[in-house]
Amino acid sequence: MKTTESKNNTSKKETIERGVTKPKSNAASGLTELFEDSLKDIYWAEKALTKALPIMLKNASSVELKDAIDNHLTETEEQISRLEEVFKIIGKKATAKKCDAMEGLIEEAKGLLEETEIGVVRDAAIIAASQKIEHYEIATYGTLRQFAETLGLPEAATLLEQTLDEEKGADKILTEVAVNAVNLEAAEIE
Ligand code: ZN
Ligand code: FE
Ligand code: FE
Ligand code: FE
Repeated sequence: MKTTESKNNTSKKETIERGVTKPKSNAASGLTELFEDSLKDIYWAEKALTKALPIMLKNASSVELKDAIDNHLTETEEQISRLEEVFKIIGKKATAKKCDAMEGLIEEAKGLLEETEIGVVRDAAIIAASQKIEHYEIATYGTLRQFAETLGLPEAATLLEQTLDEEKGADKILTEVAVNAVNLEAAEIE
């Protein structure tokens, strides 16, 4: 197999197999750094959500859905403060780094608004897009909590678990709104 030679930051010679992505000069070398980078990513994502959720709120018709989104907007603001506390625990300044995944999920949500008539059908689309967002967050906070535990940061782990539980709660409420109020009606429109 053909290989390319490169030097890593310890200047030790390293062989990188073809097709394997070469790390950037500032690439994370330990779990602490990966934890910090992941925090920056979700910090950006949560901030982006505080701008996207009001758009979803404005476009929702069902009172149940509006309440769910409004409530989650308040939670999202608290989640941002919680992340700032976690940054404090690890002695780092809270910094946001663009989350490509959340940018895409929000883009998709906005696209769905244009592609649906206002009312129950748009509501069903908002729920679908929001649940994709919640699942991304659930995966992220699950990982972050585990990283914090492994790194011996129990306070950070507790904060991240609080948010994880909120994300799971938000997802569950969205399912309930879909099942109880929105989807049946949307199906009747056909
Ligand atoms: Zn993210
Ligand atoms: Fe969140
Ligand atoms: Fe991300
Ligand atoms: Fe959320």
